[in-house]
Amino acid sequence: MQASRFTTCSFLILALGMAVTVALSQQDPTATEVWNPVPPKIDPGHTARAPSDAVVLFDGIDLSEWSGRNGTPEWEVEEGAFTVVPGTGDLATRATFGDVQLHLEWKTPLVLTGEGQERGNSGVFLMGLYEVQVLDSYESHTYSNGQAGSIYKQYIPTVNATRAPGEWQSYDIIFTAPRFTSNGQLEEPATMTVLHNGILIHNHVTLHGPTTYIGRPEYEAHESKLPLTLQDHGNLVSFRNIWVRELQN
Ligand code: MG
Repeated sequence: MQASRFTTCSFLILALGMAVTVALSQQDPTATEVWNPVPPKIDPGHTARAPSDAVVLFDGIDLSEWSGRNGTPEWEVEEGAFTVVPGTGDLATRATFGDVQLHLEWKTPLVLTGEGQERGNSGVFLMGLYEVQVLDSYESHTYSNGQAGSIYKQYIPTVNATRAPGEWQSYDIIFTAPRFTSNGQLEEPATMTVLHNGILIHNHVTLHGPTTYIGRPEYEAHESKLPLTLQDHGNLVSFRNIWVRELQN
């Protein structure tokens, strides 16, 4: 009997103690402060310089980070930028990437002669498979899911943030690679967030598979890291200031 009274008493004291602790912590702003981990400090760079923790894929000087169809890239480097040489094929990074934050700048020629898809067409292919369209869409008309900033034939950009032909434009892309199980089944589809000239045009959209010109997209298991590619679509599109930050998930 005495032992049970003692137990009840201890319990009440403990409960009271806990209630006081909770009450105090609810008044204490430091109770919700998290001090660790401390995010690594980086130099964020600026419009003409990559952040300090980025992999620089083009620094304005040479294409040493890229390979062409026959090895050495044949695209032309001039005045801090490089331009498609039509017919020489796509460029691919020598390194492979999975989840990334990518920054790149591009421009079409000042004078364009083609129409629609023939007007400054190129493309940024994450993992060489998932295309964000590069195209002049300033005053040109084409199918919406193939205009500048579209995730080709999958997502129409929410707005057309295109600058005029001949002006430099930027893409900032956050890409999460798809995940596949060991027996090749899709576990998680790829996702993308895209800013065109600093404007959000895709907010964490889920890709249906690799972007395709004909037919419906369909996932097929692939490596967790693959080269990033730029498209030779036969048009004189230029690029500069390209960097990626590999993301850890
Ligand atoms: Mg294209």
